[in-house]
Amino acid sequence: MAWDLDGRSGGTGRRIGDLDRSLLLHCRTSQVTQAAEAADRSGGGLVVTADRGNLRGCLGRARHLREVDHYHRPVLLDAARYVGDGRLPAEAPFDPRWIDCQRDLGLPVLTDSGYLDRDDTAGLAGILERAARLGDAIALLPMHPGWLTDRIARQTLVRYVAAVGVPVAVVVEESANPFSPASTVRGLRQLLGCGVPVLVLRADLPVLGVLCSGATAVAIGTEPALRRLDPRRPVGSRPLIGVPRPSAVVRQCLSYAPLSEIEATMQRHPDNGMWHCECATCAGRGLGWLLDRPDGERSRTAFRHSVDVLLDLRAELTGPSTPLDEWSWRARCAAAASRRREVGWDLLPMLDHWQQAVAPPSTSRPPAPAARRAGGSTRFSRATTPRSAA
Ligand SMILES: [Zn+2]
Repeated sequence: MAWDLDGRSGGTGRRIGDLDRSLLLHCRTSQVTQAAEAADRSGGGLVVTADRGNLRGCLGRARHLREVDHYHRPVLLDAARYVGDGRLPAEAPFDPRWIDCQRDLGLPVLTDSGYLDRDDTAGLAGILERAARLGDAIALLPMHPGWLTDRIARQTLVRYVAAVGVPVAVVVEESANPFSPASTVRGLRQLLGCGVPVLVLRADLPVLGVLCSGATAVAIGTEPALRRLDPRRPVGSRPLIGVPRPSAVVRQCLSYAPLSEIEATMQRHPDNGMWHCECATCAGRGLGWLLDRPDGERSRTAFRHSVDVLLDLRAELTGPSTPLDEWSWRARCAAAASRRREVGWDLLPMLDHWQQAVAPPSTSRPPAPAARRAGGSTRFSRATTPRSAA
């Protein structure tokens, strides 16, 4: 399999078809209409997750999206066989019908991989080599966080991915530790440096940092459950049942917050300059207008605002020079941490981790931006014969 290596010397994103440092919305099949409307902008697109294993429903909606709705932004399909208590292991074979249907729809082929547990090196090699044999696939790696945080495991991961040479889409499971370790960011940056296109899916807003570091695409979930991969629950525990509270992105804090929390914080800090929004939906209003929307429209308007802000951030943060993008992201993380402190919101460890991972700009002149090649092929093909990672 090959891919366009846009801006190779500048270290910018490695393009796969229309995926070019794209910011995708990771949504459920049932949310596609709303998500497609919101993400129909340059740099946007969708990852559609099968609801409760309903692959047929997911494929049917994707076909409708292409053939009836004429939605032509990038779309990936996520079989989500790595989720929940009944998840499949990494050794589970891919479903050839799932692969063929994505090809029939003209979509990038994302493998329907099972969960890659800690130390499952055979599982890692199996997913990568089966994906390589498909010839046109992105290997989905839904993984235990230890693959990024543990030094030896990280070296193994990077070595295998570089050796097999297929593009990878990473989903990182939440750490059992309530604070994701700083080494998660270091691990992702190391993976980005191994010479293959890397995507990070099912993530939260701080994943924008990966886009600044040259990822081909990232996907931010439309709801909390799609912004993380939960570890399997202990045997005998009860499922958590709860309705997600409507939330919205607060741009200057680089995070989602429940509308009720935004309202309460606005009342405490009405004049701190955080609430004014220039996104296309808010058009210069204060975020209070979201709260004032009628019940039936509040969530929908907050959703549109959030997607607008995310895509605005993506446009601002992805320039032709990766070092400049990373420095810009680092500065925004510092500013967001400061804002959160001002209003008494929880500090987000990921904002600190990014500041630690990216070296501050030196006084020497920054590297000149690399020229980006216009256009590019819409397919990718393998440049070299697959090599065994063993
Ligand atoms: Zn807005």
